Amino acid sequence: MNFNKFELDHIGIAVETLEQGFAFYKALGFGEMEIEEVPSQKVKTGFLRLGNQATLELLEPTSPDSTLRKFLDKRGPGIHHICLRVQGLDRILADLKAKGVRLIDEQAKMGAHGCRVAFIHPASTGGVLIELSEKTEELV
Ligand code: ZN
Repeated sequence: MNFNKFELDHIGIAVETLEQGFAFYKALGFGEMEIEEVPSQKVKTGFLRLGNQATLELLEPTSPDSTLRKFLDKRGPGIHHICLRVQGLDRILADLKAKGVRLIDEQAKMGAHGCRVAFIHPASTGGVLIELSEKTEELV
């Protein structure tokens, strides 16, 4: 059996606004965020780089019908998802589907930084929203 290789890509944190969410990290000593809007997810992201390649991703909803808006209304700001970087995302999604894992995205979508991403439903993961991310060729 071939095991997949995983790396922690980022931890997604839901915030009402990037500025509000960033205030604590600024106090802690982080520099500026790298801000990028992701229309496919109806969010604006603010990335905070960590020393070990991983990032913290602050997430602000850009639309009242964003799923992130619903998350904030129900649970308030806080940890939203964990993103694992993978290789062979399409194969992994097909494999999970075959194993009966509930996928939010059966097909990968474009995420921030030109990555292809797909979310796995927390009902199948023990309550954690998991994002899988694969770098696209142009950025390697
Ligand atoms: Zn993410």
